[in-house]
Parts: sequence; structure tokens; C-alpha cells
Amino acid sequence: MADPNKTCTKCSGVLDREGSPAYCKKCWAEYQRNYKGTKEEMAEGRGFAAGVAAFREQAALQFAGAWGSAGGNGYEIAAVLRQMPAPPRD
Ligand SMILES: [Zn+2]
Repeated sequence: MADPNKTCTKCSGVLDREGSPAYCKKCWAEYQRNYKGTKEEMAEGRGFAAGVAAFREQAALQFAGAWGSAGGNGYEIAAVLRQMPAPPRD
């Protein structure tokens, strides 16, 4: 099956599998491992970004609503943030 005239486009080794991309078995396995990792990392990144956005909105609601124009110092604001309920998960 392996055609000695064909080489892996990644490592230039003997192409010992068919299909696209023209990677050898070793490079194909590595590619699949990395691709899976990348998908998981992308999902984690989307979840993190959504969490940050939800937190910001929750904090804005907290201060715009209950706090209003009362003002406050940094310690008070920090205490409110620490006791703030978690944003809803949707
Ligand atoms: Zn290879």
C-alpha cells in the first residue's frame, strides 16, 4: 500500500496511509490529537468569554439598581461584588 514515491507532506517521511491530507500515520495521529485539543480550547474560551460578559452585566445591574446614585468607596464596592449572586446560567 505504501508508495515509496509519495511522502508525507508534513514530515517528508514515507506516506503509509491514504487520504487527505497526505500525512503519514504518525503525523495524522498527531494532527487529530491537536485538532481535538484545539476544539476543546475554543469551547473553553467561548465559555470564559460568556462568563465574563455575564459577570459584567450582573455587576452593572447590581450598581445601577440597588446602588443607584448613592456613590461609595472602593471597600464598599468590593464588598458588594464579593456578595453578588452568580449570574444566571443560560
Ligand atoms: Zn509524517
